[in-house]
Amino acid sequence: MTEKNIDVLVIGAGAAGLGAAIGAAREGVNNVVIVERDDRSGGILNQCIHNGFGLHYFREELTGPEYAERIKSIVAQYPNIDVKVEQYVHQIDHRRKEVIVASTEGITIYRPKSLVVATGARERPMGGVLVPGTRPAGVFTAGVAQRFVNLENRLPGKRALIVGSGDIGLIMARRLTLEGVEVVAVVERMPYPGGLERNIRQCLKDFDIPLYLSHTVVGIYGKERLEEVVIAQLDESFKPIPGTEKKFKVDTLVLSVGLIPQSTLFKDFLKIDSWTKGIVTSSSGRSSLNWVFAAGNCTVIYDLVDWVTDEGTIAGKFAAMYAKNNWEPARFFVEKGTNVGILFPSWYEEGTNLNLYLRVKKPIAEGTIRVKQRNNLLYSKKHLNLLPSEMVSIKIPESKLGSGDILVEVLE
Ligand SMILES: Cc1cc2nc3c(=O)[nH]c(=O)nc-3n(C[C@H](O)[C@H](O)[C@H](O)COP(=O)(O)OP(=O)(O)OC[C@H]3O[C@@H](n4cnc5c(N)ncnc54)[C@H](O)[C@@H]3O)c2cc1C
Repeated sequence: MTEKNIDVLVIGAGAAGLGAAIGAAREGVNNVVIVERDDRSGGILNQCIHNGFGLHYFREELTGPEYAERIKSIVAQYPNIDVKVEQYVHQIDHRRKEVIVASTEGITIYRPKSLVVATGARERPMGGVLVPGTRPAGVFTAGVAQRFVNLENRLPGKRALIVGSGDIGLIMARRLTLEGVEVVAVVERMPYPGGLERNIRQCLKDFDIPLYLSHTVVGIYGKERLEEVVIAQLDESFKPIPGTEKKFKVDTLVLSVGLIPQSTLFKDFLKIDSWTKGIVTSSSGRSSLNWVFAAGNCTVIYDLVDWVTDEGTIAGKFAAMYAKNNWEPARFFVEKGTNVGILFPSWYEEGTNLNLYLRVKKPIAEGTIRVKQRNNLLYSKKHLNLLPSEMVSIKIPESKLGSGDILVEVLE
């Protein structure tokens, strides 16, 4: 067993963790260590070989692996960052401020002055046990199917149906089609698509793949391998309408029903949002524990990797400031008002900019987003076609902010 006292430890080397290491290193701490369980850094970006990454951060459209390489080359410029792969964080003793990491070298106990959690997200299971039918092979989550095709050069099957019209489901519909799989349909339980309009066009319409809105899977059948999937239309209370069933002969069912922040390792000592399961943080990335910061998909599921890197960099910077001089300013609530479904962050810390990320509760054709701190109106702007699937980012500079709780609302 090895013991190490360091300045900043980062868990996870995805876009958020790499960004955090850069933010911390720039702040001038002596040592930043990233521990990553995979055999390489980059996180989920490594398997996202489509383009659409980096338009904000690098002002260039890149593929996921290209984006990862760019960030890694910035990390490599800092001699005070040590990226360690094949390191699994399996326990944290928050009272002793110890992070216990297992690797082929054995157990290492890190005692960092501050910690940045950047563990990303995991895929949501479909509650498959509730779907009637048999339990044949051929049912995959989108991430597993994507890993097969993009990293392992294997096809999951020949004819596929996809559940979930978020961006990942849409991108997988196109990817599988390009690889020769016949995608018979994408099924979405909501009355509107879950992904970006450009992805509906480029991934479904361009390939004549039908999208069934307000539908779900009601039967999965097959002996050893999947043979048939039955879908049905849903009423307004999401109950299947008898007589609307449609049968599809497929050997593959791809479930793309959302991501859940990976926060279980921290649930006993950090505040976790009971609905989203994200680690609750402030505008500096600080969690409910003063020496622990968090960023990326483990806090809230972001639409764009550029935002993930931005927030990682911020969390790294303030984690380093805490490591250097116990930086801990006053903090105020950021509260959800009318029509706000998801809101990040949950607290504002004095001396930081406020980068807000929000999703509306329901589609709103024309809404005014308003941000107020006490009686001070910080932001008020009309937005068209607000959708729960599209995250809105609003940046309020520190110079406009004072002390007091903040309210964010969307007025129709
Ligand atoms: C299919 C798909 C398509 C996407 N398309 C786009 C797009 O077109 N444009 C765009 O901008 N964004 C896109 N995104 C979003 C973007 O890729 C993600 O938001 C971003 O990469 C998430 O970064 P992260 O660092 O939070 O998480 P991750 O990349 O998941 O990184 C988390 C890391 O933590 C490690 N880890 C977790 N637990 C432990 C542990 N206990 N010990 C050690 N290490 C651990 C994991 O191995 C992983 O490497 C897409 C995402 C997906 C999934």
